[in-house]
Amino acid sequence: MLSPMSAAAGTAALERDAAGRRDRLVRDARDRLAQRRRPTRPRMRALVVRPGGRVGFVSVPGPPSPAPRAAVVRPLAMATCDMDRPLALGRTSFPLPLQLGHECVAEVLEVGAEVATVRPGERVVVPFQISCGGCAACLSGRTGNCTAVPPISMYGFGVAGGHWGGVFSERLTVPFADGMLVGLPDGVDPVAAASVADTVCDGYRHVAPHLPAVLARDPDAEVLIVAGLGRRPVFSPSSPLYAGQVARALGARRVTVVDRRPAVRDHAERLGLTAIPPADLRGRPGAPLTLDMSASSRGLWTALAHTAPDGVCSCAGVLHRGVRIPAGLMFARNATLHLGRAHTRTVVPAVLDLVARGELRPQDVTTTVAAWEDAPAALREHVLGDVTKTIVTAA
Ligand SMILES: [Zn+2]
Ligand SMILES: [Zn+2]
Repeated sequence: MLSPMSAAAGTAALERDAAGRRDRLVRDARDRLAQRRRPTRPRMRALVVRPGGRVGFVSVPGPPSPAPRAAVVRPLAMATCDMDRPLALGRTSFPLPLQLGHECVAEVLEVGAEVATVRPGERVVVPFQISCGGCAACLSGRTGNCTAVPPISMYGFGVAGGHWGGVFSERLTVPFADGMLVGLPDGVDPVAAASVADTVCDGYRHVAPHLPAVLARDPDAEVLIVAGLGRRPVFSPSSPLYAGQVARALGARRVTVVDRRPAVRDHAERLGLTAIPPADLRGRPGAPLTLDMSASSRGLWTALAHTAPDGVCSCAGVLHRGVRIPAGLMFARNATLHLGRAHTRTVVPAVLDLVARGELRPQDVTTTVAAWEDAPAALREHVLGDVTKTIVTAA
């Protein structure tokens, strides 16, 4: 069944270059058939998720030698995204089965003839969105809307994401190595930085653009992060925790995470954040910067209702085609709402800087680290249990 969100995502995905999207699929299907009949490339294992949250290895043809601007990489540390749980449980209607995973740090194995900035053996962050680095959108920092590839092109979302493969695999093609890959700074552990490819940057992009002006007006200003309002939200809670860490790293003294789950509140407190249940919001003054990272319409309403006059609410996205917002209140308070996807590649260097300086510790959000051979079991536990962040390390 198609959820309204995927219907909306599907509309956006086909707004441009539908032929390019279709051609990729056809090329890939032909290649698979040819490799089955007369294999010319070694096979590899990749994690596939099937309906019902069933996760397992499959054997697929490894990537071909890279095209002139591409690279082939070996994922070293692969992380779950908060979206992987709803994805695997069929709650997003990205069609299953699909090759899972879109966050990793990898080792470069092979580069195409025109690649200038990375060499085999280097460790790199592989941003989850496919971007060329050279089109007008990429050059202005809007890499999430790169025009060299069809809209919403990304790893780990199967056909709907443009069929680029998943990073829970032994090899991965990066089509634009110079445009996409960012070297891992010396001394940074790949396991610590695995989620920089998406969720850590997602925490950053909701905070960094707004916080300096907020703190300039009031150095004690509160950042309020709505994480989960329900008893058992389907999204994992790592990105609100990363956002809280980023806010602290960038100078916010008061960061409050709102979540109904005691375990998530405990985790937030261990990170040095304040954590409250949703009921404690009643009567609380508004905050000049609010984040809705609940992926729910109630969460967005709650964040907007607690945005102070002239404040900003940044929303990570909702699962519905349309939601209600407190428009009258927002008008009266002159609130600004931002809702949209990330331009991840653009913010990776700034996030890596914070990590390299020790000011941001994504590893403190990680709850499970599993070896490659145990990946299917660890991912099943992630999907069916209550795990915040699972990271798989390569063999
Ligand atoms: Zn993601
Ligand atoms: Zn581009």
